[in-house]
Amino acid sequence: MIVVMRAGASDQDLAHVIEKIEALGYRAHVMYGVERKVIGCLGDERGKAQLQSLELLRGVENVVPILSPYKLAGCQLKPEPSIVTVSSECAIGGRSFAVIAGPCAVESEEQILQTARAVAAAGANALRGGAFKPRSSTYSFQGLGEEGLRLLRLAKEETGLAIVTEIMDRYVLDQVIESADILQVGARNMQNFPLLNALGSAGKPVLLKRGMSATIEELLLSAEYILAAGNPDVILCERGIRTFETATRNTLDLNAIPALKARTHLPVLVDPSHGTGVWSYVAPMAKAALACGADGIIVEVHPRPEEALSDGAQSLKLDKFAALMNEMKPIAEAVGRNLGRRNAECVRA
Ligand code: PEP
Ligand code: MN
Repeated sequence: MIVVMRAGASDQDLAHVIEKIEALGYRAHVMYGVERKVIGCLGDERGKAQLQSLELLRGVENVVPILSPYKLAGCQLKPEPSIVTVSSECAIGGRSFAVIAGPCAVESEEQILQTARAVAAAGANALRGGAFKPRSSTYSFQGLGEEGLRLLRLAKEETGLAIVTEIMDRYVLDQVIESADILQVGARNMQNFPLLNALGSAGKPVLLKRGMSATIEELLLSAEYILAAGNPDVILCERGIRTFETATRNTLDLNAIPALKARTHLPVLVDPSHGTGVWSYVAPMAKAALACGADGIIVEVHPRPEEALSDGAQSLKLDKFAALMNEMKPIAEAVGRNLGRRNAECVRA
């Protein structure tokens, strides 16, 4: 249920209503709008009738049910879009179209530094790179682990780029938090509920990728775990789903962008690298993502894709990435988005 406060309700009125909500066994989640405050009552839906009686309290306008099953991720409690501020050079949401670029996996000092310098020069907002890699085969390269995190810190020190790296399990959370500005939850972990709960208190934004067989509703229900556990900074990511099609690695579901925008205030990114699996399809789909309303892209870039230890076939060379940044400029202008480091949204933040 949502308790909508009157426009002129006092702080005491609000405090009193929160007290009553908590006394009924619910968690009160206050949203501060421009004109008025609303309070989400989180808990067992069976107590709806009791909550309705809060309508009698001073300062309360009305009490209405939250219709969607993802109460914090949905638009009813928070209609205006959320902007996740990562650094003065990286804001995700609003007018900003954020570009996160880098290799699938951190492989060596030379590889990550060379990539970081190039993507920074081309205008990327953040550097991606996996230190812990979820691989289908146990015999494949699993990532450099802690050494990979050290190399990411080095790249950040030199370029100032925010770091995006994957967190595979909650037992290494403390270690990854120290090196990451955004914690990436991979497709395979979208429904790892103990991990999602742990990320509630991570104190860093979470980039939640859609599972390869997950519906849009399931993605939002997973985001809800992180939000309900206390972390408001969740960024969603469409990265392609499994279909009968074999010409591409996955089917990049761009329908998901307007469908998510209609259901949630959370920013939405697109991953055209995993979404296609083919480097030459990446730029067209990145541009499509920008045109259809995504808040940014996360794209794989490697100085020598033919030598990459993972996902070389879908990685852009450094010059191809720079070309893509240029090709996106007129599209960004046409759809009213800011592209590049230190864009208006970041500087305001
Ligand atoms: C990745 O970003 O390298 C990755 C493993 O992505 P996904 O979880 O979407 O497969
Ligand atoms: Mn990859």
